[in-house]
Amino acid sequence: MQCFAHTDVEAIGSCSNCGRGICNNCSIEVGDRLKCRNCVKISGSSQQIKNPGLAAVLSFFFAGLGQIYNGQMAKGLILMAVDILNFFLLFILIGFITGLITKIYAISDAYNTANRINSGEIKD
Ligand SMILES: [Zn+2]
Ligand SMILES: [Zn+2]
Repeated sequence: MQCFAHTDVEAIGSCSNCGRGICNNCSIEVGDRLKCRNCVKISGSSQQIKNPGLAAVLSFFFAGLGQIYNGQMAKGLILMAVDILNFFLLFILIGFITGLITKIYAISDAYNTANRINSGEIKD
């Protein structure tokens, strides 16, 4: 069997995912299995890495934006609606307090959720 990418090179094994022959250069050990570079690239890109700092900053500018960045669309939209409501409540002053609470919640939630997605605790 030859390597699928290098037809002049003898394969050292076959990819556990797609079954194609792979040479020493093309194989990547994943756990106790061999995979070709293509399959590692595909499965590697599906794993989401979120930036907790960016999520927090987004929610700082607009409550809910960090949640949407984290993939929590519904939660993000609710927080955005609450933040808009807070803006109107500013006219009767209570908006300062509720706005602050919403922001603090949105920022810390965005930060923590991003960390939990990265650690694999949350799958979206
Ligand atoms: Zn493969
Ligand atoms: Zn090869």
